[in-house]
Amino acid sequence: MPDFGAQTRPTVEEVEACDEDRCKADDLEDPAKPGAPPPAYPRINLEAKAATVKDDSGKVKRTRYPAVDLSRRIVLIGLHQAGVERGEGRWLQTAHRVTCHRAIGPSGNRYRVHPLDRRLTCTNRLDRDPYHCVGIEVLANLEGVEGDGNWYKPASFGYGRFGAAQQAALRQEIAAICEEVAGEHGGVVVGIAPHRVVGVGKNGKPNRQICCGSAIWSRGGEWAGAELGLRVPGPEWSKGGLPIPREWHGEYWPRCDRRLA
Ligand SMILES: [Zn+2]
Repeated sequence: MPDFGAQTRPTVEEVEACDEDRCKADDLEDPAKPGAPPPAYPRINLEAKAATVKDDSGKVKRTRYPAVDLSRRIVLIGLHQAGVERGEGRWLQTAHRVTCHRAIGPSGNRYRVHPLDRRLTCTNRLDRDPYHCVGIEVLANLEGVEGDGNWYKPASFGYGRFGAAQQAALRQEIAAICEEVAGEHGGVVVGIAPHRVVGVGKNGKPNRQICCGSAIWSRGGEWAGAELGLRVPGPEWSKGGLPIPREWHGEYWPRCDRRLA
């Protein structure tokens, strides 16, 4: 995941061109049509491929991390954005490199990247005892606050919007993870949080200000808080990172009544 540091802003024309592409993709699979339930988005298993990814020294990287017993951990879901905008075809080729358990493509593909009980280093303090964090990477480059034009290096990595298909697929995946943790691992997903609240660099400073951004948090994380009863960070809650800003809250926030301790 990139370091969300200095940012530049795209021109209005660039944003409009980007919005147009997004709208086309969304028109193909629009779960918001009145009366039509969202389709079940495809799940694509990349676990075998992900297990062969090598680190800079040429060692196989992911398999070094042990599996943990989820029945003995405080299991949370951590939400991330990739900070890179690509088409679904490109993600099909590259999503196995993501350091998260699951990834959600722009047209709604749900990628299984690592087994849920595998410890990864994607969500800082929440990856360590007593926690276990299941990371979901939304494969997009989204603004810190929807509409503010603050994308991560858009000239290099592109920029987009959180579309209807990707949103519906994210919600399906959150619900599926809760079922799998309970059914296959004997654990309970107790809460959900954006990377921002724990993101911290080696220098001790918060470094994930716009991960996962307001769109994913308000329509994914807070949706899960309201509809699935997951605990969410309160206004002051953080562990090494930054609290969730007021601007990230959306329509589900008033019904998020359970807080992470
Ligand atoms: Zn992140």
